Amino acid sequence: MYSQIYLDYNATTPCAQEVVEAMLPYFHEDFGNPSSSHHPYGWLAKDAIGKASATIAATLGIAASDIIYTSGATESINMILKGICSAHKQQGKHLITSKAEHKAVLDTCAFLEEEGFEVTYLDVDAQGLISPKAFKDALRPDTVLAAFLYANNETGAVQPLGEIATLAKANNTFLFADATQALGKIPLASFFEAVDFCCFSAHKVYGPKGMGMVYIKNLEGRGALSSFIQGGGQQKGMRGGTLNTPGIVGFAKAIQLAYANFDQEIQHLTQLRNQLEEGLLALEHSTSNSTAVARLPNTANISFAYVDGETLLRSLSKFMAVSNGSACNSAAVEPSHVLSAMGVKKNLAYASLRLSLGRYTKEDDIKRAITIISKEVQALREDNILWERRQQ
Ligand code: PLP
Repeated sequence: MYSQIYLDYNATTPCAQEVVEAMLPYFHEDFGNPSSSHHPYGWLAKDAIGKASATIAATLGIAASDIIYTSGATESINMILKGICSAHKQQGKHLITSKAEHKAVLDTCAFLEEEGFEVTYLDVDAQGLISPKAFKDALRPDTVLAAFLYANNETGAVQPLGEIATLAKANNTFLFADATQALGKIPLASFFEAVDFCCFSAHKVYGPKGMGMVYIKNLEGRGALSSFIQGGGQQKGMRGGTLNTPGIVGFAKAIQLAYANFDQEIQHLTQLRNQLEEGLLALEHSTSNSTAVARLPNTANISFAYVDGETLLRSLSKFMAVSNGSACNSAAVEPSHVLSAMGVKKNLAYASLRLSLGRYTKEDDIKRAITIISKEVQALREDNILWERRQQ
């Protein structure tokens, strides 16, 4: 299995060796509960978390006091969307999001609709982006929250947020962005200026699974969110439960590593992704679904006409790990809701591959992937009667 080519880094990444090493002492030797305030075991764990938070804050250019640790992006999204709606329901019960969000946002919005909130789902264009004009038109006096995906996990499209943030602010609407896929792949300085809230997940950036964080701008002064998990009063009462010391230490190490070698890593990813796209788009009747001007350096999304996507994925699984949408949704045999929202025809949405590269991808992986995918696509087409009858 491990001789396979791994091109599914947007689903998850391996934990970097440096991250594993940074975490190890906190499992057995320094295992204290950071809330134990009466002995050195607790002090040591608390100190490790303090240092990790300072590292994350310094690397990302944010305040350590604005971080709440969670179990991942899904929990973070639930925390923010439900927490804001609950805290501000007197002010308004309207939210705005888009049709191309991750299911963690869409399913939470569906839950909120059942609780009596109203959600406007904005259309996206062929690149997967919403228009500030449509956002402006959707804003209402009772719009408490707007939630948009900063970097799309399926196509890599990066949503410009500047104008949207200005419009949201003028309307007294909180702006949340899911930046799970952006972390470590694009610079985030202007992003943090734009948003009120965002979330990240460690396992997308060579950190451990089950570890995430929420950023709440000016958390101390804001009181914008109802607490989501009660018990024990940890994390300023916003999320009860014993803090995950190894997870937090590992997350900090992962973020530090990602930005320490940032320029090199981006160059490596961009070069290999371009090579992969060039190779696969050279096949006739293949089209890119990743055409936004601003996009992640590691993500390609390509449709191969006259091919059944499920069959293609099955045959490729002998050689490589790729996907045709978000991993969290791969049990469903529906075309990607993101591609559908972008107006990609159903047959082409079914026949799409998401290929996401990462730190450990080698040029040889890309060359082999191009050869194997081209061969499998060709073989499936030859079995398809429509291929013979196609218009050249
Ligand atoms: N948001 C985006 C954009 C993602 O890509 C993912 C993971 O697929 C999630 C949220 C959910 O992340 P987690 O696995 O940390 O819950």
